[in-house]
Amino acid sequence: MNPLLHLRTAQREAERCLQCHDAPCTEACPAHIDVPAFIRSILSGNVTGAAEVVRSANALASVCGAVCPQEIFCQDVCTRAQQDRPVEIRDLHGFATGWQSEHGPLRPHVSSGPGGQVGVVGAGPAGLACAFTLALFGHRVTVYDRQIPGGVPRASIPSFRLRDADLNEDLSFLSPHFVFKGEELDAAGLRRIKNEHDAVFIAAGLGADRPLPISGASLPGVLPVLRFLESAKLHMDMPPPGDRMIIVGGGNVSLDAAATAKRLGASDVTLMYRRSEQEMRIWKSELEEARRQGVQMAFLTRPVEILGTARVEGVRCRRTRLSDRCDPDGRRIPEDILHSEFMIDADAIIVAIGQIPTAEFLPLFERTSRGYVKVDLDYQTSIPSVFAGGDIIGGEGTIVQSVAQGKAAAGAIHRYISSGNPGGRP
Ligand SMILES: Cc1cc2nc3c(=O)[nH]c(=O)nc-3n(C[C@H](O)[C@H](O)[C@H](O)COP(=O)(O)OP(=O)(O)OC[C@H]3O[C@@H](n4cnc5c(N)ncnc54)[C@H](O)[C@@H]3O)c2cc1C
Ligand code: SF4
Repeated sequence: MNPLLHLRTAQREAERCLQCHDAPCTEACPAHIDVPAFIRSILSGNVTGAAEVVRSANALASVCGAVCPQEIFCQDVCTRAQQDRPVEIRDLHGFATGWQSEHGPLRPHVSSGPGGQVGVVGAGPAGLACAFTLALFGHRVTVYDRQIPGGVPRASIPSFRLRDADLNEDLSFLSPHFVFKGEELDAAGLRRIKNEHDAVFIAAGLGADRPLPISGASLPGVLPVLRFLESAKLHMDMPPPGDRMIIVGGGNVSLDAAATAKRLGASDVTLMYRRSEQEMRIWKSELEEARRQGVQMAFLTRPVEILGTARVEGVRCRRTRLSDRCDPDGRRIPEDILHSEFMIDADAIIVAIGQIPTAEFLPLFERTSRGYVKVDLDYQTSIPSVFAGGDIIGGEGTIVQSVAQGKAAAGAIHRYISSGNPGGRP
């Protein structure tokens, strides 16, 4: 929760900003929020002005004000850290947008523009940011989603990290700017909306968990992490799927699963990762939080078989060590240690080893070697007039990166429509 609840406390934090001329924080923020400018507005007591600066750059400003991993972006380069500690940039913009929502709506300037028609598939961060930016350029936008708007922040990010109120603040600011249709699009649906619009933006995210390729993985009690997090978010009073739970995976999503398992009341939660702590792709604060909650860590360990007859009873594991070979991302590949097998009892296993794109229309597109939709520098796909952005083009990212891509793609779509030949490549 944001500790900056009152203007005076926010101003005390704002006073710590050195107002650097080159603003490395703005450069490091993927949405390029003008950090010194909004901090100056807070200092002068113009909180609405601060919220305007933040919202004009980041369509999901309240969501990012709560869960943006600032430690890898703006805060990581904050000059103030050389004196004592970085400025709490995220809390400050969360304060500004939260305060503004309570004190009346912002009315962004919508230009009369060329009035093109754009269809957006997916109402997650990338789709919402693209739809909003296109609307400001003066285009008419229809957003399609099989679920209510919000994407992963709505469906999967646990409520103890992201309150519905934060997402709803953003949605009530954004939703007057587009028409929403609750519809899941397949290949035929995509062809239809392509014919109905001057351009289409695909932001369908990932949506399916990578399966664990070992024996026993289909036993009852083995759950894909997104399904686990989605049902826990809907029913926070549900019992844990087991008292002794193992979470397999070493990313932020596995830490969310471990923390959720603890909150549901599981007494014994172990996070199992085949590499060491140094190779985890996580925000350190999340790992510290999981440890505080009593989650146990089993590093350099991997499951080789899930044991049980009617349902999960345990896992056969093997110890690993890091080899000298590296994967395409430069991380050392783990290898098994001979004769190192051991068993762990477990009632439930949560599989959190990554997500993959699932949309039925994917085969229509040229894709990258990793199966994501391939785009050029203007976010155009292999299909003329169809653009794409967010996790579906690059895999698991962050909200602010998806917002930045949605914004950039909106600029490219605007240029494309303004060039006067919708339906063909510019
Ligand atoms: C558990 C979890 C926790 C996370 N925590 C954080 C965090 O704290 N901070 C952070 O910055 N990032 C976090 N992330 C990452 C972040 O949520 C994603 O990078 C971001 O949501 C991706 O945005 P997107 O718009 O590309 O896709 P999504 O958010 O996945 O949205 C895609 C939307 O498309 C819709 N859709 C899909 N297929 C179709 C179809 N065929 N027809 C119609 N609609 C369709 C879906 O219903 C969904 O609403 C987290 C991710 C997960 C899984
Ligand atoms: S959106 Fe994220 S990176 Fe950008 S200023 Fe806010 S906390 Fe920093």
